[in-house]
Amino acid sequence: AKGDDKGTWQRYRSELHTAMVQRLETRTALHEAIDGEQFAVMYQPIVDLTTRETAGVEALVRWQHPVRGLLGPYHFIEVAEESGAIVEIGRWVLRAALTEFTRMRAGTTLKYVSVNVSARQFRTPGFVDQVRDALEDSGARPEWLLLEITESLLLRDADQVWQDLGELRALGVRIAIDDFGTGYSSLSYLRQMPVDVLKVDKSFIDDILGSEQQRALVDAIVTLARNFDLAVVAEGIEDEGQRAELAAMGCPYGQGFLFSKPVWPHEISARPQPGVMS
Ligand code: C2E
Ligand code: CA
Ligand code: CA
Ligand code: CA
Repeated sequence: AKGDDKGTWQRYRSELHTAMVQRLETRTALHEAIDGEQFAVMYQPIVDLTTRETAGVEALVRWQHPVRGLLGPYHFIEVAEESGAIVEIGRWVLRAALTEFTRMRAGTTLKYVSVNVSARQFRTPGFVDQVRDALEDSGARPEWLLLEITESLLLRDADQVWQDLGELRALGVRIAIDDFGTGYSSLSYLRQMPVDVLKVDKSFIDDILGSEQQRALVDAIVTLARNFDLAVVAEGIEDEGQRAELAAMGCPYGQGFLFSKPVWPHEISARPQPGVMS
């Protein structure tokens, strides 16, 4: 048994070593990726749960790695957050998303593009100017932009953040709380928050048909949001039953594989405006 323990420990150590080496490699490669413009953006439709019309799209970053192929954020976002590379990546994504959206929306019902902003990027001095510049250079109107932030950003060092959120909203940019429900903000606090949209995390949606408690919880969030004049987007809708249940609750918008996976920009613009064909 003693020999086994030693073997397990050595295997553990070598796995740990491999993981560390991989993180270091990713870190170095990320910097080259920023210089070499190896990033790309895919878009996932956000739809009206009653009419199924696409209302907006969420921009989701991808890394076109020269050796490993197309990588999702799972493979690099954490390392990018730690190293600070996320600030540069985020700036690039914002500009790319606004530029592509300006083309994508022509002839469609698309109203907005939703862009994820990491806490670290948001706290970078000059973030509001960064947004202003990106809007100006792309020719996009502020109303076309929805910024997705996390609950934790609103809680830590909140003063500057709240001020910046106020400035962005004064420009006409809207703010969403991403993964709503997974953080620690209290519901009563929500009334004062400088935000426009709640995105209810997939983990709450998964079991709305199987668990009465989960259903009641989502129902309560939808009702609360309506009373506070917030729009709601249910995330991770994978089947028709979930869509019907959410629509019946009065949840206006949703996003998920039921409607579409993230796709390339030309696949969005190719979609005809609902009503034109029928
Ligand atoms: P998120 O913001 O919660 O984005 C939704 C994620 O769920 C996306 O994964 C999307 O592909 C996936 N998803 C959508 N519908 C479904 C569904 O019905 N079922 C399942 N199983 N998954 C679904 P993705 O693209 O891999 O992105 C993962 C996370 O990476 C995002 O989660 C977001 O937190 C982060 N991320 C993506 N792009 C950016 C970015 O440009 N900047 C920053 N800071 N973070 C980003
Ligand atoms: Ca998001
Ligand atoms: Ca989310
Ligand atoms: Ca999520």
